[in-house]
Amino acid sequence: MSARENPSRPVPNPGVMDIAAYVPGKSKAKPGIKLHKLSSNETPLGPSPAAVEAFKAEAGTLEFYPDGTAGELRNAVAETHGLNPDNLLCGNGSDELLGLLAHVYLNTGDEAIITEHGFLVYRIQILANGATPVVAPETDLRTDVDAILERVTERTKMVFLANPNNPTGTYISDAEVRRLHAGLPKDVLLVLDAAYAEYVRRNDYSAGVELVSGNENVVMTRTFSKIYGLAALRIGWMYGPAHVVDALNRVRGPFNLNSAAIAAGAAAIRDRAHVDEAAHFNETWVQALTGALTDIGLTVTPSVGNFILIHFPGDDPERSAAAADAFLTERGYVLRALGTYGLPNALRMSIGTAEANEGVIAALKDFMGRA
Ligand SMILES: *Cc1c(COP(=O)(O)O)cnc(C)c1O
Repeated sequence: MSARENPSRPVPNPGVMDIAAYVPGKSKAKPGIKLHKLSSNETPLGPSPAAVEAFKAEAGTLEFYPDGTAGELRNAVAETHGLNPDNLLCGNGSDELLGLLAHVYLNTGDEAIITEHGFLVYRIQILANGATPVVAPETDLRTDVDAILERVTERTKMVFLANPNNPTGTYISDAEVRRLHAGLPKDVLLVLDAAYAEYVRRNDYSAGVELVSGNENVVMTRTFSKIYGLAALRIGWMYGPAHVVDALNRVRGPFNLNSAAIAAGAAAIRDRAHVDEAAHFNETWVQALTGALTDIGLTVTPSVGNFILIHFPGDDPERSAAAADAFLTERGYVLRALGTYGLPNALRMSIGTAEANEGVIAALKDFMGRA
């Protein structure tokens, strides 16, 4: 379309109007009812107290621009994970990094592969850059490596993979990720989004550090929004080959992380006891909730993350996911409906406090037992 075909007003770039805007998890309850927000995979334990202290300490120097390289944070990440800080790039949430990657590597006419129930931010960023999202079906709600490889064409520039995936909670093994990488052309960028890596307790899982280190076409993104409990501050980081870090550094905002985020993130990642406690708490409740809800007659997809996918009977309108969502919301338990993820018969529940988790079990027992 020529730029002058519609002279009456500005026209967005191709793809932009195909985007369905991201809908964040709900966070409202009826007046007088205690709200348990279980819709955005936030941690019930909050951040490390050391991170809160570091955040507060920034209050006295707000007139100064932050360190545009986020050096303190990159060094803390590098020390914790045994990485070279030169291969790290921090973002205003990992969402910013995913957007920068799409912006730098995708153009009109390109294709990027995503999985059937993959994180919606990928689709948004692909479309925002005029490229085409190509959807690879999953098998039993799990990433299907062959389905991805079958969809690679000359136009493919990127593959986005959340591992573990949100909202399914499933993962693929390190061997499967390596098989995926081995099947991709060298100029296709594999983006491993490991937002939930800290929660995974499986011997055959890897977040992807080694694969990034040994190759020129793999990056791994991570976040402080989940186990670190700093979602409000918007902090993510990427580990990638020097040439990718260099390209993104040219495009990003010069001060994309604020000083409070840099200080709090660095303190948070050094508090390993807090992370271990959060992972342990999560593991205990994923198992307890999965068991209790299965006993009630619901199906729960085995999860390695900090949330579970609960399936409701599709043929019983009284016990549908939508009916359960309304029933739980009445009682202050706000879960995530997944129609936009192609899972209309399921709800995603973030692991909450013991009080919230027990409350959901009791409420769903009532819900399923209703005449
Ligand atoms: C929550 C989440 C993120 C984190 O995004 P931030 O922008 O860092 O808050 C990234 N990827 C997936 C799959 C997620 O579920």
